[in-house]
Amino acid sequence: MLSFPQQVNIREVGPRDGLQNEAVWVPTEQKIGLINALSHTGLKRIETASFVHPKALPQMRDAAEVLAGIERVPGVIYSAIIPNAVGAQRAIETQVDEVEIFLSASESHSLRNLRRSVRDSLQAAQEVAAILGEVNLPFDAVISTAFGCPYEGEVAIEQVMWVADRLLELNPQPTRLTLGDTTGMANPVQVTTMVEQFRRRFPGVVLGLHFHNTRGSGLANVLAGLLAGVIHFDASLGGLGGCPYAPGASGNICTEDTINMLHDMGVQTGIDLKKLIECANLAQSFIGHELPSQVLKAGPRTRLISIP
Ligand code: ZN
Repeated sequence: MLSFPQQVNIREVGPRDGLQNEAVWVPTEQKIGLINALSHTGLKRIETASFVHPKALPQMRDAAEVLAGIERVPGVIYSAIIPNAVGAQRAIETQVDEVEIFLSASESHSLRNLRRSVRDSLQAAQEVAAILGEVNLPFDAVISTAFGCPYEGEVAIEQVMWVADRLLELNPQPTRLTLGDTTGMANPVQVTTMVEQFRRRFPGVVLGLHFHNTRGSGLANVLAGLLAGVIHFDASLGGLGGCPYAPGASGNICTEDTINMLHDMGVQTGIDLKKLIECANLAQSFIGHELPSQVLKAGPRTRLISIP
């Protein structure tokens, strides 16, 4: 008999992780409209923006305007990404509810994408944590390339655990650790092993999983995480956010595909699938290309059809 959690929390990352990978500029008003619509779907966590330097990520240059313009629906946590101390200060000014800091588990990915070593990133994380601590702003520490690195290939579980251990030494501590499969290299067996090791090493620490569907294993990995007892997952509406370096490649797992599967399994998310599909249609209308979402194409599974 399979046993898995009956209630799962989804963090919607489309407005940030999704949109930041889109080549076409999405006007501030449209971003705000999308986040407002998402706020009324039952989602409890929405990643809204990134405070990375505007030159490094032009799509997110309006992060402060977006956060100032959105409706703050009670009960919804609005988060943003911060890369460093400057980003932390900018985010604090917007009165965001929560922030996420990013580190890479792999040395090569860290050097190429964050332009600093893992150890330097950890040092910077302490500087940022201290700033956040002054205003009691909770933060999630995301470990990217936890399941594989595009430059190094395999990333040792021991290396991921070492980074997690250092992150838990931060003062104040992150409220959650998220393991990210940045380029879609995870497989379900690896997910099970990783989660089991994490639980053994860090009992009581809140764990989130962030999967990409780059090679089609996204939902299988969610299932593996679920069976291992994880209840926090990131997903992006419409599957928004393919890889900018591989045209046509899928990015984040799709929120409506994920909750369609979960709801059919009897796992609750508190999210209204119909409303979420409307949001995905809205996003699709302003990015100018088809989104990889399967549910958007097929519609939700209806229980009225009986197969003879
Ligand atoms: Zn992602």
